[in-house]
Amino acid sequence: MVERYDLAIVGGGLVGASLAVSLSATPLRIALVEAFAPDSASQPSFDERTTALGNASRRVFEALGLWQAMEPDAAPITDIHVSDAGRFGFARLAARDFAVPALGYVVPNRVLGRVLWEGLRRAANVTPFVPMRVQAVTPGADAVGLALESDTGRMDIEARLVVAADGANSLVREAAGLSAMVDDYRQVAVVAALRTDQGNDGTAYERFTAAGPMALLPLRGAAQHNWRTLVWAARPEDATRLLQLEPSAFMAEWQRAFGWRAGRAVELGRRVPYPLALSRSSEAVAHRIAMLGNASQLLHPVAGQGFNLGLRDAAELADLLAACPSDPGSDEVLADFAARRKADRGGVVRFTDTLVRAFSNTNPVVALARDAGLLAFDLLPPAKRALSRVSLGFGARAPRLTRGLMP
Ligand SMILES: Cc1cc2nc3c(=O)[nH]c(=O)nc-3n(C[C@H](O)[C@H](O)[C@H](O)COP(=O)(O)OP(=O)(O)OC[C@H]3O[C@@H](n4cnc5c(N)ncnc54)[C@H](O)[C@@H]3O)c2cc1C
Repeated sequence: MVERYDLAIVGGGLVGASLAVSLSATPLRIALVEAFAPDSASQPSFDERTTALGNASRRVFEALGLWQAMEPDAAPITDIHVSDAGRFGFARLAARDFAVPALGYVVPNRVLGRVLWEGLRRAANVTPFVPMRVQAVTPGADAVGLALESDTGRMDIEARLVVAADGANSLVREAAGLSAMVDDYRQVAVVAALRTDQGNDGTAYERFTAAGPMALLPLRGAAQHNWRTLVWAARPEDATRLLQLEPSAFMAEWQRAFGWRAGRAVELGRRVPYPLALSRSSEAVAHRIAMLGNASQLLHPVAGQGFNLGLRDAAELADLLAACPSDPGSDEVLADFAARRKADRGGVVRFTDTLVRAFSNTNPVVALARDAGLLAFDLLPPAKRALSRVSLGFGARAPRLTRGLMP
């Protein structure tokens, strides 16, 4: 017997799990297939990274009733300090300029995973297949077949709509016959927790160096005293060297590149590398299949937009599916989804890509222009307001969840 569902979500990482919780109050029968248990050390989405959530993402989690459980570990970003190593340009953004308590919140990915999956355990209409891996996808006229496999056996299910939330190397995308357009940035992000001798005051630092950008984000929580998350994007050969350095040598090199704004580095956590690329699915949808999150677009983490954008993907699809169409995988639903997500996805991809390329460029004319840009940005309130659009999304309309309303 093949089990039948209205919707099957492949990938229960940040975006797939968020979509499933968003649909928990609908009558849809949902299968959620995830290769790793949420608390497994091998879970690739809920790993040592931290995620900077924008205010729209906070509103989504508030509407879903999950924010309260995240808040004790969510560090508010009250200020953002942007600087260009060895040059004069810098810019500041402060929450008070926008009359909000925080510009965003930094939450450990493991906390996001724990809270999302606690939410899923309360969702009566979601059947989790965990840990199970989708091995084959068979698109059909009225449903898509999925062959699932685990260490203990295999089974088949089918669904009228399949959501690809299975990350940048999406098997579902490939099975749908879509390609990924990939631009390798030739950078690797080295992510680590870093403790300094200076208390964290809610400032997130973004520092652009010739080799690539570096971010230092505040952390919160009982065990996080003076700890921050460092995301250091470097050329692959430099990243290899940074990963091999003794912790004291690494911290000395970080101090030279970053300066003393956040105090003196005194302790370093485990360093984990993430190769960086821009990858976009050739299409947003295929027959009975929708692409979400990293399966649709993989971004450079420089502006902390990947998950925020993926969460808006999930919120928009939730809006369409909660309207209870008789066939959730119909061409009309999928065409609507693709049309509604186009402007936001395109805008964030362009914004992030331009930032990476402008600030990785060593040409003195480009460097001067970006310093002037940073200074102008610091002096001109309209430029700051324009940036706040990035965190709200470039779409013409905001999905209900991002306005704090259930779909
Ligand atoms: C260093 C770094 C820092 C970042 N910081 C930020 C930030 O501050 N803010 C922000 O918004 N974004 C940030 N991002 C981006 C963010 O991490 C991604 O946007 C997010 O992980 C995308 O989630 P996803 O669920 O689409 O994909 P993934 O996180 O890749 O999850 C995919 C899931 O699918 C599962 N899966 C894959 N194949 C199968 C299969 N065949 N069967 C079953 N399950 C499968 C995987 O096990 C995984 O759980 C950062 C990224 C990096 C690399």
